[in-house]
Amino acid sequence: MSQLHTDQRPAGANPTFRLDVSVHDLLTKPNPVSPPQAAAEPLTLPEPVFPRHPELLGRDAALPPRDPNSPYQRRWTPALIYRALNGWMFPYVKSRVLPGDFHPIIAYLFTEWKCNLDCHYCWAFDNSVKGMSEDTARRSIDWLHSTTCRVLALMGGEPLLRPQFSHKVVYYAAKKGFWIYVPTNARLLRPDVTDRLADAGMAVVNFAVDVVDEKPGLPKAFNPVRKHFEYLIRKQYQYGYIVFFNINICRNNIEDVQQLTEIARDYGIITDYHINESPMIEQSHFQHLNENDTFIREEDWPRVDALLDWLIDKNRAGYKMVNSARRLADMKAFMRGKVEPWNCRAGQNSLIIRVDGTLAPCFPMYSATYDWGVVENHRFEVKQLDNMKESCQTHCFSTLNHNLGYCYNDARAIRWVLKQASRGFQGVSGSFD
Ligand code: SF4
Ligand code: SF4
Repeated sequence: MSQLHTDQRPAGANPTFRLDVSVHDLLTKPNPVSPPQAAAEPLTLPEPVFPRHPELLGRDAALPPRDPNSPYQRRWTPALIYRALNGWMFPYVKSRVLPGDFHPIIAYLFTEWKCNLDCHYCWAFDNSVKGMSEDTARRSIDWLHSTTCRVLALMGGEPLLRPQFSHKVVYYAAKKGFWIYVPTNARLLRPDVTDRLADAGMAVVNFAVDVVDEKPGLPKAFNPVRKHFEYLIRKQYQYGYIVFFNINICRNNIEDVQQLTEIARDYGIITDYHINESPMIEQSHFQHLNENDTFIREEDWPRVDALLDWLIDKNRAGYKMVNSARRLADMKAFMRGKVEPWNCRAGQNSLIIRVDGTLAPCFPMYSATYDWGVVENHRFEVKQLDNMKESCQTHCFSTLNHNLGYCYNDARAIRWVLKQASRGFQGVSGSFD
């Protein structure tokens, strides 16, 4: 039987990785992948036209009240419905009917691997790594455009560290028909940055907050960015983007999670929850592996269980959440290290592009050295991915890939589209089941 590294740690220590040792060794052995060759004349991204929608700039908008008859409710125009179908539904159908195994639906473009904060659970930044070049960004988008992929998620680190670069990426990708997802800790999401990204075609903002006020080890707080948030909320119905809170459940933010859930409810936005987890593979640059106050310990399980029960009740009471009640309940088992094998589609229908243009199937594998190829020349192979997933699926709770795997089923996808159509596509949000 294969051995997990987590089994070898002394009681109470944080695990350094969550895979079978043999798979971990294969993924991390010295095998540096060469980034794509730079062209003799590096490509650049076009200078965005701004504003494309001058009529939306500075228009006063009220904060959306709870009243469902308020004029400040979202209306899904035909253009917005088409943008969503073009991003998700058409690529899904193509991926089902086209021959071959590699038909991406969503790609994560890591434009940065630096961050302006230091959340103690986070290994996803290294401030010595240079951000993506325009050449790599443009070639990535052009290459993805030649595939089925039409959902592009900017990623980091903090993607808004270079707001002008993000504006260029969003503008170029939106022009090519991508549905664009922007995650941020919002420290740099000033109103002019919101206007530029929204004007360029941003479709959704993942507003990442863990606490209401900063706490030791948890700097992603709501109050320091409240003004940015309120501007973002005021403008969402004019530009047509969606906003959701992305909240990481840690051992030291249980009450904050409840408060943030109510804040989201007050502002009429969706919430998405994650259970704090240690790195999937070893991260030599990660500073806080030991003495980390954010990782959930066995003695915290009852408190986290109670929080999850509270969230499930809210979900059933109509609070809008990305996670279904079933997924929230599954978090209890995941926290205890129990995950059943599932239908992970990473490397076939989703992928990540690192800042240097190299590829990997998913975010937990960002630091793997295995050669999955580079933009314009992927090397994903189903046999290798399936072998790897025999180990990693039972330690992985990737929300996106779980949702993608769950929905990668024609009957479920058709049922969901029919449900949305019956509402005139006026309630396209929330979980699939
Ligand atoms: S803001 Fe995001 S990328 Fe930065 S340290 Fe926190 S979790 Fe990591
Ligand atoms: S199960 Fe899928 S998403 Fe999770 S680590 Fe493995 S390949 Fe990545």
